[in-house]
Amino acid sequence: MKACNACGKCCVKYSNGQLSASEQDIQLWDSFRPDITEFVSDDGLIWFDPSSKELIELCPWLKKDPDSARYLCGIYLDRPEDCRAYPATISDMIKDDCEMLEAKDLRDLKQAQQTLNDIMANDR
Ligand code: SF4
Ligand code: SF4
Repeated sequence: MKACNACGKCCVKYSNGQLSASEQDIQLWDSFRPDITEFVSDDGLIWFDPSSKELIELCPWLKKDPDSARYLCGIYLDRPEDCRAYPATISDMIKDDCEMLEAKDLRDLKQAQQTLNDIMANDR
C-alpha cells in the first residue's frame, strides 16, 4: 500500500454534505478556530455557507496545489475527525478508487486491511 498522494478524490466525494463535525471538533474549533465553526450547520453537518446557510458543493478548505495536480487541505492540522478517519476500510478505498491501493492489496484484502489499520494507527 502506498502513502496517500493527495489526489483529493475522497475530499471531493465526501465533502458535499456527507461529513459531520463531532462534538470534540466543534469544541476545539470554538476555542481555537471559530472561523471553521462558522461552516458547520446547526445539526453538525459540514460544510455550510456561513451567510446563506446553504450546503457548499465542495469543501471550502480544499485547495489545488499550484505546483502539482494534487490537493491541499487548508485546515489539515485542524481537520474534522471524519476526515482524519479516512480511509478506514479497503472496501471504501476500492469504491472510491483511492490511489493508496496497489495491485498486491487487491490480491490479499485481509492483509491490506491490516496494513491500512497499522498506517492509520501510526497516523494519529
Ligand atoms: S477538511 Fe480537509 S481533509 Fe476534510 S474534506 Fe476538506 S480538504 Fe478534505
Ligand atoms: S483518495 Fe486516497 S490517495 Fe486520494 S487523497 Fe484520499 S486517501 Fe489520499
